[in-house]
Amino acid sequence: MLDYFGVEADLSEEEKMIQESAREFVDEQVRPDIGEHWIEGTFPTDLIQKMGEMGFYAPNLEGYGSPNVSEKAYGLLMQELEACDSGLRSMASVQGALVMYPIHAYGSEEQKEHWLPQLGSGEAVGCFGLTEPEHGSNPTAMETRAEEADEGYLLNGSKTWITNSPIADVAIVWARDQTDPDTPVRGFLVETDRDGVSTNKIDEKLSLRASITGEIGLNDVVVPEENVLPGVSGMKGPLSCLTQARYGIAWGAIGAAQDAFETARQYATDRDQFGGPIARFQLQQDKLAEMATQITLAQLLAHRLADLKERGDMRPQHVSMAKRNNVRMARDQSRIAREMLGGNGITADYSPMRHMANLETVYTYEGTHDIHTLILGEDLTGIAAYE
Ligand code: FAD
Repeated sequence: MLDYFGVEADLSEEEKMIQESAREFVDEQVRPDIGEHWIEGTFPTDLIQKMGEMGFYAPNLEGYGSPNVSEKAYGLLMQELEACDSGLRSMASVQGALVMYPIHAYGSEEQKEHWLPQLGSGEAVGCFGLTEPEHGSNPTAMETRAEEADEGYLLNGSKTWITNSPIADVAIVWARDQTDPDTPVRGFLVETDRDGVSTNKIDEKLSLRASITGEIGLNDVVVPEENVLPGVSGMKGPLSCLTQARYGIAWGAIGAAQDAFETARQYATDRDQFGGPIARFQLQQDKLAEMATQITLAQLLAHRLADLKERGDMRPQHVSMAKRNNVRMARDQSRIAREMLGGNGITADYSPMRHMANLETVYTYEGTHDIHTLILGEDLTGIAAYE
């Protein structure tokens, strides 16, 4: 795939190997059927454990079966998965960055030993419940609450737009702890087979169709004290997970754009109009030149972001800039690629329109484009413009 400035020439052997094995896996096991899954609105669930065996879930964590690969290797993995479909990358992002990461960072020893190996192998599926029907961009206003009960906590509330909730074994639910005078937010590990938990599927999505999305209903759900994540309270908990997932998205979006670009480049050389390939027209070359330039700029940003993360200098605002830029880039460029394919471009036989539709979700979740603009605005001026 496009690497115009040769940034991948500097990869370590391990990073190259991880990238190549992910690309092979996707080419052999996912790409042939992904268009069909997208149309049907299904995720290839038989791949969940295979993805675990491949080490796709949080391989950048250390211990409990995770190999602690470099942040660049992790980013490249997200890039390869999203070059196939944003739904595939979402599976890995949620399981790794939004479920395994908080258990790894804030969980008790028992929680880590119990959950991390089975989530890493894909034997168990996790989901992350932050968004509520009335609170999306402003999760600080969440209403889901945890009250003291004899056996631990009683949870009530509802979450929506939760990736994988209908197939999850465990949900990380963020709720207000009413037993604390300041009611800070705490993370609860909620097994989905507990009484009072419902996980209805959201159907008829026109974006991210090859990904299962649902709600989490919590109706007097009792969870024991040992299911609380002991190491964090307040919004730092969910927000720090989002930083991890957004890092992966900043990389993943490049993959979707690269795939759309390669499809358009190939199509332009294959498709004849007016007696020769459309690639000979300056208008088409302008589109390819712009697409390649924008992808390259996004790649440079992502590779630098990985360096910052690796050495501990990455701030959430850096991630906001990269997520905001790279997803907008991929959304814009996949549309140009679609356009270059003419009528064929609106079919599921080619990837650009599928990427384009998926990227509407990616533009919206993990902090909308607007919210990342406000995060940057605050960082640059010292003035928050959220209200
Ligand atoms: P709103 O917050 O209502 O925003 C509506 C519009 O208003 C947006 O354009 C927004 O940018 C704009 N806006 C809001 N506030 C401001 C402001 N202050 N200034 C300017 N503009 C503003 N959530 C989870 O917790 N877990 C998941 O696994 C998950 N998966 C998802 C999967 C899919 C397919 C989708 C679509 C969403 C998912 N989400 C998940 C939810 C996602 O994070 C939210 O949709 C997102 O945060 C936006 O919230 P909202 O939809 O309520 O929009």
